[in-house]
Amino acid sequence: MRPILKKRQINKSTLTLLQGDITNETTDAIVNAANSSLMGGGGVDGAIHRAGGGAILEECKDIRAKQGNLPTGKAVITTGGNLKAKYVIHTVGPIWHGGNQGEAELLKSAYLESLKMAVANNCSSITFPSISTGVYGYPKEKAAPIALETVIDFLKTDVRIKEVRFVLFDSQTFAAYNQALLILEERDDF
Ligand code: ADP
Repeated sequence: MRPILKKRQINKSTLTLLQGDITNETTDAIVNAANSSLMGGGGVDGAIHRAGGGAILEECKDIRAKQGNLPTGKAVITTGGNLKAKYVIHTVGPIWHGGNQGEAELLKSAYLESLKMAVANNCSSITFPSISTGVYGYPKEKAAPIALETVIDFLKTDVRIKEVRFVLFDSQTFAAYNQALLILEERDDF
């Protein structure tokens, strides 16, 4: 069966949405929805550490020893260990507390800081999971437009990243991102 896939040209870059497992990605970097401890966890974090091997956790431990916990909305980078991706960019999305605790700004920051980290390390392609919409409880329908708008605005002004992919794990999450993209495309400023 062909994977569900959607591609759009944004300025000089490609934006791709697909359903799948991020650990199979071959982009220069993949993004991990980590937690502040950087010590691994469940969901996509667990999957990346399992597939990437122990080297990633060792690098995370070194980073933590130097700079402590990673604040929400910030990002750090390690190698990809055994993954096909060269790097893993670890970012911490916000925990959903109802929407009045700065969640939207923090989610936007997690995407933006990851993109900046990719550029700073000469990556020309990057893959995101749906940050915060698993254990952290951010509603998918609210997170998807923020994720897409942040990436699209970035690609409109910065041509150093040639491809951004969103690899969405389940069909409901893919549907939420697909719908959010359709709505964004209706806007005059798209
Ligand atoms: P958070 O704590 O930021 O909510 P989670 O890992 O719990 O992070 O969930 C974020 C999203 O990642 C969810 O949509 C979850 O289904 C998805 N996910 C889990 N495993 C993978 C994977 N291997 N590849 C891509 N996405 C995944």
